[in-house]
Amino acid sequence: MLEKIDILRKYLAHQGSVRVIVFDATQMVQKARDIHQLSNVATAALGRTLIISTMMASMLKEKEAKLTIQIKGEGPLGSIVVCGDKSLKMKGYVGNYDVGLPLKTNGKLDVGRAVGKGMLTVIKDIGLKEPYIGNCELISSEIAEDFAYYFNVSEQTPSVVSLGVNIGKDNQVQKACGYLIQPLPDCEEKVLDILEGINTQISSVTNLMLDLDNIEDVAKTISGDNQIQLLSEEYPIWACDCNEERIEKTLLALGKKECEKILKENHNQIQVSCNFCNKVYSYDLSKIEQIFRS
Ligand SMILES: [Zn+2]
Repeated sequence: MLEKIDILRKYLAHQGSVRVIVFDATQMVQKARDIHQLSNVATAALGRTLIISTMMASMLKEKEAKLTIQIKGEGPLGSIVVCGDKSLKMKGYVGNYDVGLPLKTNGKLDVGRAVGKGMLTVIKDIGLKEPYIGNCELISSEIAEDFAYYFNVSEQTPSVVSLGVNIGKDNQVQKACGYLIQPLPDCEEKVLDILEGINTQISSVTNLMLDLDNIEDVAKTISGDNQIQLLSEEYPIWACDCNEERIEKTLLALGKKECEKILKENHNQIQVSCNFCNKVYSYDLSKIEQIFRS
């Protein structure tokens, strides 16, 4: 059987006056759920953040550009962190992976309560001396609305953001997907009205994707334009780029004395695990000495 892949497509709609991005992220969100053993509500929170972050990373222009998203909420989930780059290799984690909360009255996972009040921060490293940092308050903590608000106030780009993660009866991610619609500066008022009319009616992006089962049809439906123009198709993946070298830098920054102290306290072992992929790196006394010698 062929391994399933995630697909992100960009389109222009309404004679090039509207940008539309549609992303089916089911495999990526399943991977995040497996690696971090996420509860359902934690899967939805990290999943939604991964989906919008990937779409934002796909809009980075510089080849080496990197994107970091931090959502610091006061709720039981703790912080959400997602990192990615222009090649759409993405990774992320949440503070508390096993948060359990009752469903909302509408039957949806209560991401807003899990995240709680707080701040959204967007860091774009485009290879300049200083990264671009934008932030805003969370307005609903349901993620999609918060990013729509961020685009509006922080980047002056009115946007429609829809994000969804469905977990099936088999406890697997049945569908994780999202879309982003951004009218470009020359977009006509009547097109804005069309977009608003359609998007207030769509209650679930995952159901729309499951029903239509086709990214192009989803793009046509959400834009209200049958003549959309495909700009690109990309295949984002979950990937962690941690390695020995990076961990050793952390140990060096900690200092030899501190490392020796940890060794003594921990049966001659220092174990460092990667927040993003949970890979464990182990060091004993001789390895530590070697690091500080070189
Ligand atoms: Zn890692």
